[in-house]
Amino acid sequence: MAALDPPYACNLSAMREIPGAWRRTAQGAGLLSDTGAAAPTIFAEMSALAAHTGAVNLGQGFPDEDGPAAVLDAARDAISSGANQYAPGRGVAALRDAVADHQQRFYGLTPDPDTEILITAGATEALAATLLALIDSPDDEVVVFEPYYDSYAACVALAGARLVTVPLRWPDFQPDLDDLSRAVTDHTRIILVNDPHNPTGAVFSAATRQEIVRLAERHDAIVVTDEVYEHLVFGEPHVPLATLAGAHERTLSISSAGKTFSTTGWKIGWVSGPADLVDAVLAVKQFLTYVNGTPFQHAIAAGLALPDDFFSGVAAALRAKRDLLGVGLEAAGFTVSRPAGSYFTVADARALMAPGTDAADFCRALPERVGVVAIPLTAFVSRPHRADYATLVRFAACKREDVIADAAGRLAGLAGLAR
Ligand code: PMP
Ligand code: GLN
Repeated sequence: MAALDPPYACNLSAMREIPGAWRRTAQGAGLLSDTGAAAPTIFAEMSALAAHTGAVNLGQGFPDEDGPAAVLDAARDAISSGANQYAPGRGVAALRDAVADHQQRFYGLTPDPDTEILITAGATEALAATLLALIDSPDDEVVVFEPYYDSYAACVALAGARLVTVPLRWPDFQPDLDDLSRAVTDHTRIILVNDPHNPTGAVFSAATRQEIVRLAERHDAIVVTDEVYEHLVFGEPHVPLATLAGAHERTLSISSAGKTFSTTGWKIGWVSGPADLVDAVLAVKQFLTYVNGTPFQHAIAAGLALPDDFFSGVAAALRAKRDLLGVGLEAAGFTVSRPAGSYFTVADARALMAPGTDAADFCRALPERVGVVAIPLTAFVSRPHRADYATLVRFAACKREDVIADAAGRLAGLAGLAR
């Protein structure tokens, strides 16, 4: 996508001659412009566009309502009671205990809270620290499913490794197991698996999960999971890869409180797995943020202890929003891929696009045309594969029902407008 004019863009011209790893990081994320400057992420760009135009923001995935009062109150209490200084390097004990209890309650996993759990500044830091910690050679490869969350390609490039992609294809976005098996080789250091998946909303099948573990064992790769949408599934309960036979000793599981508790601004995440792998991540993590968010760590400990019906309730509420969004998109003329989990729904906008344009053009014009912001799937795809996703758009369902209904009403106006 072309860079936006100020005020959305960062200072593009000032960065051009500055040597450093920023360049390969931006390039890895597809954000290095033709002039050699780094553009902001698609999420920053599109949220700025929504703020500027007053459009309904179904772009960046963040809820527009607060999470459970008990969790918000626990943060206030923690601040009032003086939990305002550095947390221990691995995170406050109450949260590490709560993560351990959560892993046991939902998945039967039994991580040791003292050695096998590390609290991080969101899943983003957990992912960055993990990739930086475990990648050691330009010949190392990291296998990801494409489309992929933007930070994966950025961090793999920063760490100096090669990204190898396995395509997820419209409309169900399940990987072909032969593609997967071809992608994983003895060069594979990490298989990075986001399930439930952003941006497609796919939940991987048992066969895919088994094949990932089989290939990781066969090629001695580490499995890194991104399970930030673990509680936002609309069918069967989530199955962590770490629960599969043979997986535990080679798997680092990453998650975050942001989605489950509607606290994306708190940036409390965690990684769990075998002590030696967690120690390796800690060795890097402690020089990124050292620690973060002490009172919020206490509050999320309270959140993770909420009863089961809280967790089933968030999934049910999001499922209703997904359904509302899906019906609205279809009525507006999109073809919809029904997601099995996550905040997101992918829709094909082909019928609504002017000839010769793509989803990036469509999304850039959408705020002006009907007052809605959405994200083109090409933002999650490496340059050589963008044509395969050129008509697909991601909409976020994690908004109030009246907001989704408003957006659907606006999108319905597309059919009557000139393209
Ligand atoms: N992974 C995925 C798949 C995401 O969608 C997000 C965005 N929320 C993150 C990681 C980052 O999570 P956090 O906000 O906890 O850093
Ligand atoms: N996870 C959010 C999304 O996919 C965005 C988070 C971010 O802006 N980095 O929309």
